[in-house]
Amino acid sequence: MATERDYYEILGVNKNASADELKTAFRNLARKYHPDVNKTPEAEEKFKEINEAYQVLSDPDKRAAYDRYGKAGVSGMGNGFDYSAVDLSDILGDLFGFGGFGGFGGFGGTRAQQRNVPRKGADLQTTVTMQFEEACFGADKEIIFNRDEKCSRCHGSGAEPGTKPQRCSTCNGSGEVKTSRQTMFGSMVQVTTCPVCGGRGETIPSPCTQCHGRGIERKTVKKVVSVPAGVDTGTRIRLSGEGQPGENNGPNGDLYVDVRVNQHKFFHRHDFDIQVDLNINIAQATLGDDITVPTIDGSEQLKIPSGTQPGKGFTLKGKGVPYLRSNGRGDQKVIINVVIPHSLTAEQRDLMEQLAPTLGTEVIPQEKSFWDRIKEAING
Ligand SMILES: [Zn+2]
Ligand SMILES: [Zn+2]
Repeated sequence: MATERDYYEILGVNKNASADELKTAFRNLARKYHPDVNKTPEAEEKFKEINEAYQVLSDPDKRAAYDRYGKAGVSGMGNGFDYSAVDLSDILGDLFGFGGFGGFGGFGGTRAQQRNVPRKGADLQTTVTMQFEEACFGADKEIIFNRDEKCSRCHGSGAEPGTKPQRCSTCNGSGEVKTSRQTMFGSMVQVTTCPVCGGRGETIPSPCTQCHGRGIERKTVKKVVSVPAGVDTGTRIRLSGEGQPGENNGPNGDLYVDVRVNQHKFFHRHDFDIQVDLNINIAQATLGDDITVPTIDGSEQLKIPSGTQPGKGFTLKGKGVPYLRSNGRGDQKVIINVVIPHSLTAEQRDLMEQLAPTLGTEVIPQEKSFWDRIKEAING
Protein backbone atom coordinates (compact mmCIF):
# COMPACT_ATOMS: atom_id res chain seq x y z
CA MET A 1 0.00 0.00 0.00
CA ALA A 2 1.86 3.03 -1.27
CA THR A 3 -0.30 5.90 -0.13
CA GLU A 4 -3.80 6.97 0.61
CA ARG A 5 -3.09 10.63 0.10
CA ASP A 6 -4.45 12.56 -2.81
CA TYR A 7 -1.94 13.16 -5.61
CA TYR A 8 -2.65 16.90 -5.67
CA GLU A 9 -2.09 17.03 -1.94
CA ILE A 10 1.18 15.15 -2.28
CA LEU A 11 2.48 17.72 -4.74
CA GLY A 12 0.94 20.59 -2.76
CA VAL A 13 -1.04 22.02 -5.68
CA ASN A 14 -4.74 22.61 -6.22
CA LYS A 15 -6.93 20.63 -8.61
CA ASN A 16 -6.71 23.26 -11.33
CA ALA A 17 -2.92 23.43 -11.33
CA SER A 18 -1.37 23.97 -14.77
CA ALA A 19 1.28 21.68 -16.22
CA ASP A 20 3.93 24.28 -15.35
CA GLU A 21 2.73 24.54 -11.77
CA LEU A 22 2.86 20.76 -11.48
CA LYS A 23 6.34 20.66 -12.88
CA THR A 24 7.60 23.38 -10.52
CA ALA A 25 6.02 21.68 -7.53
CA PHE A 26 7.52 18.35 -8.53
CA ARG A 27 10.99 19.83 -8.99
CA ASN A 28 10.92 21.55 -5.64
CA LEU A 29 9.99 18.35 -3.92
CA ALA A 30 12.36 16.22 -5.96
CA ARG A 31 15.24 18.46 -4.97
CA LYS A 32 14.36 17.79 -1.37
CA TYR A 33 13.69 14.08 -1.49
CA HIS A 34 15.61 12.53 -4.40
CA PRO A 35 17.57 9.64 -2.85
CA ASP A 36 20.72 11.02 -4.42
CA VAL A 37 20.55 14.11 -2.26
CA ASN A 38 18.51 13.00 0.72
CA LYS A 39 19.98 10.09 2.62
CA THR A 40 17.30 9.82 5.32
CA PRO A 41 15.38 6.51 5.35
CA GLU A 42 12.02 8.20 4.68
CA ALA A 43 13.30 10.02 1.62
CA GLU A 44 13.07 7.08 -0.73
CA GLU A 45 9.47 6.33 0.18
CA LYS A 46 8.61 10.01 0.00
CA PHE A 47 10.21 10.39 -3.39
CA LYS A 48 8.33 7.36 -4.72
CA GLU A 49 5.13 9.01 -3.63
CA ILE A 50 6.00 12.35 -5.24
CA ASN A 51 7.09 10.67 -8.42
CA GLU A 52 3.98 8.50 -8.60
CA ALA A 53 1.80 11.58 -8.21
CA TYR A 54 3.71 13.50 -10.85
CA GLN A 55 3.78 10.62 -13.34
CA VAL A 56 -0.01 10.52 -13.22
CA LEU A 57 -0.80 14.23 -13.10
CA SER A 58 1.72 15.21 -15.78
CA ASP A 59 0.06 12.86 -18.25
CA PRO A 60 -3.24 14.46 -19.46
CA ASP A 61 -4.93 11.09 -20.07
CA LYS A 62 -3.96 9.69 -16.71
CA ARG A 63 -4.82 12.94 -14.97
CA ALA A 64 -8.32 12.86 -16.50
CA ALA A 65 -8.81 9.24 -15.41
CA TYR A 66 -7.56 10.03 -11.95
CA ASP A 67 -9.82 13.05 -11.62
CA ARG A 68 -12.80 10.87 -12.51
CA TYR A 69 -12.13 7.54 -10.85
CA GLY A 70 -9.31 8.17 -8.39
CA LYS A 71 -6.42 5.75 -8.13
CA ALA A 72 -8.47 2.89 -9.50
CA GLY A 73 -8.77 4.82 -12.73
CA VAL A 74 -5.06 4.82 -13.40
CA SER A 75 -4.07 1.38 -12.18
CA GLY A 76 -3.05 -0.75 -15.12
CA MET A 77 -2.20 2.30 -17.26
CA GLY A 78 1.42 1.31 -17.34
CA ASN A 79 2.84 3.11 -14.35
CA GLY A 80 6.29 1.87 -13.61
CA PHE A 81 6.95 3.75 -10.43
CA ASP A 82 10.67 3.46 -10.69
CA TYR A 83 12.26 6.57 -9.27
CA SER A 84 15.56 5.66 -10.81
CA ALA A 85 14.02 6.52 -14.18
CA VAL A 86 14.01 10.14 -13.06
CA ASP A 87 17.29 11.73 -13.88
CA LEU A 88 18.26 14.15 -11.16
CA SER A 89 20.28 16.09 -13.68
CA ASP A 90 17.04 16.79 -15.55
CA ILE A 91 15.61 18.25 -12.40
CA LEU A 92 18.67 20.13 -11.28
CA GLY A 93 20.80 20.62 -14.36
CA ASP A 94 18.47 22.82 -16.38
CA LEU A 95 17.27 24.52 -13.23
CA PHE A 96 20.70 25.97 -12.59
CA GLY A 97 21.69 26.14 -16.20
CA PHE A 98 24.81 24.04 -16.10
CA GLY A 99 25.87 20.44 -16.23
CA GLY A 100 27.87 18.66 -13.62
CA PHE A 101 25.07 17.25 -11.52
CA GLY A 102 25.02 13.55 -11.85
CA GLY A 103 21.94 11.48 -11.86
CA PHE A 104 21.08 8.08 -13.09
CA GLY A 105 21.61 6.92 -16.62
CA GLY A 106 22.38 9.03 -19.63
CA PHE A 107 23.99 12.10 -18.18
CA GLY A 108 27.29 10.41 -17.37
CA GLY A 109 27.44 9.04 -20.90
CA THR A 110 27.42 12.50 -22.40
CA ARG A 111 30.30 13.55 -20.23
CA ALA A 112 32.26 10.43 -21.07
CA GLN A 113 31.92 11.24 -24.76
CA GLN A 114 33.19 14.76 -24.18
CA ARG A 115 36.14 13.42 -22.28
CA ASN A 116 37.05 11.04 -25.09
CA VAL A 117 36.63 13.59 -27.85
CA PRO A 118 39.53 13.55 -30.36
CA ARG A 119 42.07 16.25 -29.60
CA LYS A 120 44.86 17.60 -31.76
CA GLY A 121 48.34 17.12 -30.32
CA ALA A 122 50.41 20.09 -29.18
CA ASP A 123 52.58 21.98 -31.65
CA LEU A 124 56.35 21.79 -31.30
CA GLN A 125 59.08 24.25 -32.21
CA THR A 126 62.68 23.86 -33.21
CA THR A 127 65.37 25.93 -34.91
CA VAL A 128 67.51 25.25 -37.97
CA THR A 129 70.74 27.18 -38.55
CA MET A 130 71.89 27.76 -42.12
CA GLN A 131 74.84 29.24 -43.94
CA PHE A 132 74.18 32.35 -46.03
CA GLU A 133 74.39 30.53 -49.37
CA GLU A 134 72.19 27.68 -48.10
CA ALA A 135 69.50 30.20 -47.23
CA CYS A 136 69.83 31.78 -50.66
CA PHE A 137 69.47 28.61 -52.66
CA GLY A 138 67.63 26.29 -50.24
CA ALA A 139 69.03 23.15 -48.70
CA ASP A 140 68.06 19.86 -47.13
CA LYS A 141 68.84 20.31 -43.44
CA GLU A 142 68.76 17.75 -40.68
CA ILE A 143 66.83 18.79 -37.60
CA ILE A 144 66.82 16.99 -34.26
CA PHE A 145 63.99 17.50 -31.77
CA ASN A 146 62.17 15.68 -28.97
CA ARG A 147 58.65 14.36 -29.34
CA ASP A 148 56.35 11.89 -27.59
CA GLU A 149 55.78 8.74 -29.58
CA LYS A 150 54.00 5.44 -28.99
CA CYS A 151 56.05 3.32 -26.63
CA SER A 152 57.91 0.71 -28.66
CA ARG A 153 57.63 -1.91 -25.91
CA CYS A 154 53.86 -1.83 -25.18
CA HIS A 155 52.79 -0.25 -28.50
CA GLY A 156 50.94 2.46 -26.64
CA SER A 157 48.79 0.33 -24.34
CA GLY A 158 50.86 1.16 -21.26
CA ALA A 159 50.61 -2.45 -20.10
CA GLU A 160 53.63 -4.71 -19.82
CA PRO A 161 53.64 -7.09 -22.81
CA GLY A 162 51.60 -10.18 -21.94
CA THR A 163 49.31 -8.23 -19.57
CA LYS A 164 46.25 -6.11 -20.25
CA PRO A 165 44.69 -2.93 -18.85
CA GLN A 166 41.74 -3.71 -16.57
CA ARG A 167 38.42 -2.03 -15.98
CA CYS A 168 38.80 0.48 -13.14
CA SER A 169 37.07 -0.89 -10.06
CA THR A 170 36.57 2.55 -8.51
CA CYS A 171 34.40 3.92 -11.35
CA ASN A 172 33.48 0.58 -12.97
CA GLY A 173 35.01 1.76 -16.22
CA SER A 174 32.88 4.90 -16.54
CA GLY A 175 35.82 7.18 -15.80
CA GLU A 176 33.81 9.29 -13.35
CA VAL A 177 32.73 9.22 -9.75
CA LYS A 178 29.81 10.88 -8.00
CA THR A 179 30.34 12.83 -4.83
CA SER A 180 27.87 14.59 -2.56
CA ARG A 181 28.48 18.11 -1.40
CA GLN A 182 26.61 20.72 0.54
CA THR A 183 25.54 23.87 -1.27
CA MET A 184 23.10 26.69 -0.63
CA PHE A 185 20.52 24.61 -2.49
CA GLY A 186 21.03 21.64 -0.20
CA SER A 187 22.97 18.51 -0.86
CA MET A 188 24.14 18.15 -4.45
CA VAL A 189 25.65 15.27 -6.33
CA GLN A 190 28.63 16.20 -8.41
CA VAL A 191 30.26 14.09 -11.07
CA THR A 192 34.01 14.29 -11.24
CA THR A 193 36.74 12.48 -13.14
CA CYS A 194 37.71 9.26 -11.44
CA PRO A 195 40.86 9.97 -9.40
CA VAL A 196 42.09 6.38 -9.69
CA CYS A 197 42.09 5.98 -13.47
CA GLY A 198 42.12 9.67 -14.37
CA GLY A 199 38.96 9.23 -16.45
CA ARG A 200 40.30 6.48 -18.69
CA GLY A 201 38.05 3.86 -17.13
CA GLU A 202 40.98 1.49 -17.05
CA THR A 203 43.86 0.79 -14.76
CA ILE A 204 47.08 -0.96 -15.61
CA PRO A 205 48.01 -3.59 -13.03
CA SER A 206 51.43 -4.27 -14.59
CA PRO A 207 52.69 -1.05 -16.14
CA CYS A 208 55.09 -1.30 -19.04
CA THR A 209 58.62 -1.12 -17.68
CA GLN A 210 59.77 1.15 -20.48
CA CYS A 211 57.11 3.89 -20.35
CA HIS A 212 55.83 3.28 -16.79
CA GLY A 213 52.29 2.85 -18.08
CA ARG A 214 52.05 6.12 -20.01
CA GLY A 215 51.99 4.36 -23.37
CA ILE A 216 54.22 7.04 -24.81
CA GLU A 217 57.89 7.78 -24.52
CA ARG A 218 60.00 10.81 -25.26
CA LYS A 219 62.01 10.23 -28.38
CA THR A 220 64.73 12.17 -30.10
CA VAL A 221 63.61 12.50 -33.69
CA LYS A 222 65.92 13.23 -36.62
CA LYS A 223 64.34 14.62 -39.76
CA VAL A 224 65.55 16.13 -42.98
CA VAL A 225 63.74 19.34 -43.89
CA SER A 226 63.78 20.73 -47.39
CA VAL A 227 64.32 24.38 -46.66
CA PRO A 228 63.23 26.44 -49.69
CA ALA A 229 65.41 29.06 -51.38
CA GLY A 230 65.07 32.60 -50.09
CA VAL A 231 64.54 31.98 -46.38
CA ASP A 232 66.02 34.40 -43.88
CA THR A 233 66.38 34.65 -40.12
CA GLY A 234 62.82 34.68 -38.80
CA THR A 235 61.32 32.55 -41.55
CA ARG A 236 59.07 29.88 -40.04
CA ILE A 237 58.48 26.54 -41.75
CA ARG A 238 55.50 24.44 -40.69
CA LEU A 239 55.76 20.67 -40.87
CA SER A 240 52.19 19.49 -40.65
CA GLY A 241 51.56 16.53 -38.34
CA GLU A 242 55.12 16.38 -36.99
CA GLY A 243 54.19 17.67 -33.52
CA GLN A 244 52.94 15.86 -30.45
CA PRO A 245 50.59 12.91 -31.02
CA GLY A 246 46.85 13.60 -30.89
CA GLU A 247 44.58 12.14 -28.21
CA ASN A 248 41.67 9.79 -28.84
CA ASN A 249 42.67 9.42 -32.47
CA GLY A 250 42.89 13.18 -32.92
CA PRO A 251 45.43 14.52 -35.43
CA ASN A 252 49.05 15.17 -34.49
CA GLY A 253 50.21 18.69 -33.75
CA ASP A 254 52.52 20.53 -36.12
CA LEU A 255 56.23 21.21 -35.93
CA TYR A 256 57.39 24.79 -36.49
CA VAL A 257 60.97 25.17 -37.68
CA ASP A 258 62.39 28.66 -37.17
CA VAL A 259 65.23 29.54 -39.53
CA ARG A 260 68.40 31.27 -38.36
CA VAL A 261 70.91 32.36 -40.99
CA ASN A 262 74.57 32.88 -40.11
CA GLN A 263 76.18 36.19 -41.09
CA HIS A 264 78.39 36.13 -44.16
CA LYS A 265 81.89 37.60 -44.25
CA PHE A 266 81.08 40.09 -47.01
CA PHE A 267 77.55 39.46 -48.33
CA HIS A 268 75.01 41.54 -46.44
CA ARG A 269 71.37 40.94 -47.01
CA HIS A 270 68.63 43.60 -47.30
CA ASP A 271 65.42 41.60 -47.91
CA PHE A 272 66.21 39.95 -51.24
CA ASP A 273 69.03 42.29 -52.26
CA ILE A 274 72.65 41.54 -51.38
CA GLN A 275 75.14 44.29 -50.66
CA VAL A 276 78.89 43.95 -51.13
CA ASP A 277 81.33 46.71 -50.20
CA LEU A 278 84.41 46.83 -52.44
CA ASN A 279 87.67 48.66 -52.00
CA ILE A 280 89.39 50.15 -55.07
CA ASN A 281 92.45 52.37 -55.16
CA ILE A 282 92.67 55.99 -56.23
CA ALA A 283 94.03 55.11 -59.66
CA GLN A 284 91.14 52.70 -60.39
CA ALA A 285 88.63 55.29 -59.19
CA THR A 286 90.27 58.04 -61.20
CA LEU A 287 91.04 56.20 -64.43
CA GLY A 288 88.33 53.54 -64.37
CA ASP A 289 88.82 49.74 -64.43
CA ASP A 290 87.24 46.36 -64.98
CA ILE A 291 87.04 44.72 -61.60
CA THR A 292 86.03 41.25 -60.40
CA VAL A 293 83.07 41.16 -58.03
CA PRO A 294 82.02 38.16 -55.93
CA THR A 295 78.35 37.17 -56.18
CA ILE A 296 76.51 34.17 -54.74
CA ASP A 297 76.68 32.67 -58.25
CA GLY A 298 80.43 33.17 -58.56
CA SER A 299 82.62 35.97 -59.94
CA GLU A 300 81.25 38.73 -62.14
CA GLN A 301 83.06 41.46 -64.08
CA LEU A 302 82.06 45.02 -63.29
CA LYS A 303 83.15 48.07 -65.27
CA ILE A 304 84.13 50.99 -63.04
CA PRO A 305 84.03 54.21 -65.04
CA SER A 306 86.74 56.83 -64.69
CA GLY A 307 86.03 59.38 -61.99
CA THR A 308 84.10 56.99 -59.75
CA GLN A 309 83.49 58.60 -56.37
CA PRO A 310 83.65 56.85 -52.99
CA GLY A 311 80.23 55.46 -52.02
CA LYS A 312 79.13 55.07 -55.62
CA GLY A 313 76.76 52.13 -55.99
CA PHE A 314 76.45 49.70 -58.88
CA THR A 315 73.64 47.23 -59.42
CA LEU A 316 74.01 43.69 -60.70
CA LYS A 317 70.45 42.90 -61.77
CA GLY A 318 69.04 39.55 -60.68
CA LYS A 319 72.15 38.59 -58.72
CA GLY A 320 70.45 38.83 -55.34
CA VAL A 321 68.56 36.25 -53.30
CA PRO A 322 65.84 34.18 -55.02
CA TYR A 323 62.37 35.22 -53.83
CA LEU A 324 60.94 32.84 -51.26
CA ARG A 325 58.35 30.53 -52.88
CA SER A 326 58.19 32.72 -55.94
CA ASN A 327 60.01 33.35 -59.21
CA GLY A 328 62.70 35.93 -59.70
CA ARG A 329 65.53 37.26 -57.60
CA GLY A 330 66.66 40.45 -55.94
CA ASP A 331 69.74 42.42 -57.07
CA GLN A 332 73.27 42.70 -55.87
CA LYS A 333 74.44 46.18 -54.94
CA VAL A 334 78.14 46.92 -55.11
CA ILE A 335 79.25 49.90 -53.04
CA ILE A 336 82.61 51.36 -53.96
CA ASN A 337 85.02 52.50 -51.31
CA VAL A 338 88.14 54.34 -52.53
CA VAL A 339 91.14 53.54 -50.38
CA ILE A 340 93.72 56.24 -49.85
CA PRO A 341 97.20 54.70 -49.57
CA HIS A 342 98.56 54.63 -46.03
CA SER A 343 102.16 54.70 -47.25
CA LEU A 344 103.88 55.16 -50.55
CA THR A 345 107.13 53.89 -52.00
CA ALA A 346 109.70 56.49 -52.93
CA GLU A 347 108.71 56.14 -56.55
CA GLN A 348 104.99 56.54 -55.83
CA ARG A 349 105.68 59.56 -53.66
CA ASP A 350 107.71 61.12 -56.43
CA LEU A 351 104.89 60.59 -58.94
CA MET A 352 102.26 61.88 -56.52
CA GLU A 353 104.30 65.00 -55.89
CA GLN A 354 104.47 65.63 -59.59
CA LEU A 355 100.69 65.20 -59.85
CA ALA A 356 99.75 67.24 -56.81
CA PRO A 357 100.35 70.80 -58.08
CA THR A 358 98.25 70.08 -61.17
CA LEU A 359 95.21 69.30 -58.98
CA GLY A 360 95.34 72.63 -57.13
CA THR A 361 94.85 73.25 -53.42
CA GLU A 362 91.34 74.64 -53.36
CA VAL A 363 89.04 73.32 -50.60
CA ILE A 364 85.53 72.51 -51.78
CA PRO A 365 82.71 72.06 -49.21
CA GLN A 366 81.03 68.65 -49.52
CA GLU A 367 77.45 68.62 -50.73
CA LYS A 368 76.59 65.20 -49.41
CA SER A 369 78.31 62.96 -46.95
CA PHE A 370 79.84 59.65 -47.88
CA TRP A 371 77.17 57.80 -45.83
CA ASP A 372 74.30 59.68 -47.45
CA ARG A 373 75.58 58.50 -50.80
CA ILE A 374 75.87 54.90 -49.55
CA LYS A 375 72.27 55.04 -48.41
CA GLU A 376 71.23 56.41 -51.81
CA ALA A 377 73.11 53.64 -53.53
CA ILE A 378 71.41 50.95 -51.42
CA ASN A 379 67.93 52.36 -51.76
CA GLY A 380 68.27 53.43 -55.38
ZN1 LIG B 1 55.29 1.13 -22.79
ZN1 LIG C 1 38.24 4.92 -12.59
